[in-house]
Amino acid sequence: MQKFYETPQNYPETRPASQRKADFDEIYQQFADEKAQQQSERCLQCGVPFCQVHCPLHNNIPDWLRYTAEGRLRDAYEMAASTNNFPEICGRICPQDRLCEGNCVVQSGFGAITIGSIEQYVTDKAWEQGWITPFMPPSERAQSVGIIGSGPAGMAAAQQMREAGYQVHLYDRYPTAGGLMMHGIPNFKLDKTIVTRRVEQYQQSGVVFHQGVDIGTTMSFAQLRGQHDALLIATGVYRARGLDLEGEHKENVVKALDFLTQHNKGIFESSEVEARLSAAGKIVMVIGGGDTAMDCVRTAIRQGAKRVMCVYRRDKKNMPGSQREVKNAEDEGVEFRWLSVPVRFYGAQRVEAVDVQAMRLGAPDRSGRSSPTPIEGEVAQLSVDMVITALGFEPEALPTLFAEPQLRVSKAGTLQVDKQMMTSLHGVFAAGDIVRGASLVVWAIADGRDVAQHMMHFMEQQRECAA
Ligand code: FAD
Ligand code: SF4
Ligand code: SF4
Repeated sequence: MQKFYETPQNYPETRPASQRKADFDEIYQQFADEKAQQQSERCLQCGVPFCQVHCPLHNNIPDWLRYTAEGRLRDAYEMAASTNNFPEICGRICPQDRLCEGNCVVQSGFGAITIGSIEQYVTDKAWEQGWITPFMPPSERAQSVGIIGSGPAGMAAAQQMREAGYQVHLYDRYPTAGGLMMHGIPNFKLDKTIVTRRVEQYQQSGVVFHQGVDIGTTMSFAQLRGQHDALLIATGVYRARGLDLEGEHKENVVKALDFLTQHNKGIFESSEVEARLSAAGKIVMVIGGGDTAMDCVRTAIRQGAKRVMCVYRRDKKNMPGSQREVKNAEDEGVEFRWLSVPVRFYGAQRVEAVDVQAMRLGAPDRSGRSSPTPIEGEVAQLSVDMVITALGFEPEALPTLFAEPQLRVSKAGTLQVDKQMMTSLHGVFAAGDIVRGASLVVWAIADGRDVAQHMMHFMEQQRECAA
């Protein structure tokens, strides 16, 4: 170990941009065994590992790195899986530069230990070797839980409770499970078979999936509540923020999630993407600077767009999206127009051109980032065939949808929970984006694991009261 000064930092190879633009496959290649071992040996084995402190799951990173360095891959996998339900997914899509790797002490001067890639490597190996099997409970319990939403929060909670023997039922409005891991995040970041093999593992473990059930529409919340001893709401946030520009409802102005969801559905159902939602042959403008915007521009490139522009009101340094994703997008041919805001759409039936106002950065706003102000007279007109808006997400009005006016929500519409993660309705818990607001898969997993502990404690108390 401690070889960071003699072994340079090395990430898995990226496929050349010219090749990866032509398909929807993942862009990173797998570490070779020897390389994973060498990269793990770079770790200092810190007494107080900041990488672990800043991982939302507090993964025991130094230990799995040591096991990998020693060639003990099964131990490395067991260690990674003891705190994380989906290590192979987090290894692929966590913004490591903001979490574990961004806080690795070797980061400055030598380059962080490539933690995410090694986490992915050991878990992919575990799948290859058949070490990942159904999680069967030692004994069955009669009590049952209903979970609304089969995204990472709902699934992580489901595993924790099923392992303890509870009867776990997941309800989701989509026909396939996985939440945004399946429907939002593109295949070139997270191959869909990686999610579906987890769903199969859950099914084999006795977790019951009820897909295509929209709570509040096809089944009432009250009916569901009557069927289970405890409920978890893990419905995520899906309502797209608007632009507030005249013309934003024209048919060629498309919401990011509609675009990505259709596209992902096209991949796992091998179906045609609706023409309105396809970027093929079009000049595309994506508005926004977060990771969703990056997913849209890179999907548009792969669909065969003629030209793809990303318009963002701040500069590159101040954008919320991961710098790694921006670099990937630039390599794939996306044009970034920093410090730019769309101010006017032109066109009768469809938007045909957009006025884009140039901005300069002023004093920091409440978020601590410089706030953009317009530069008078600097407006450019750009021709477009399709506009994709990626300006963030808000929760649906759940008290109305669920016909439960007592369900307490914050001003932003997220669910309010107490210290036990219980909502204002007795025995109804909540976790993931619907509580935090739009966040990350790793936080949803952490919340799912936490809420499962509280729900099991609640059910234990109910059982004792009944006895
Ligand atoms: P979700 O994953 O949203 O799952 C909620 C589930 O609830 C869905 O399946 C939905 O169908 C279901 N549901 C909702 N309402 C109902 C209802 N009434 N009845 C039945 N079912 C219902 N995070 C990262 O860490 N890395 C990334 O690279 C990344 N990329 C992203 C890219 C995009 C385009 C988007 C939109 C998000 C991305 N995220 C990323 C964020 C991440 O996907 C979310 O933070 C995470 O999935 C939230 O998990 P969740 O379980 O709370 O909700
Ligand atoms: Fe890093 Fe995410 Fe893995 Fe934690 S779960 S160690 S933050 S990649
Ligand atoms: Fe290893 Fe970096 Fe974590 Fe220290 S902070 S234990 S060097 S990965």
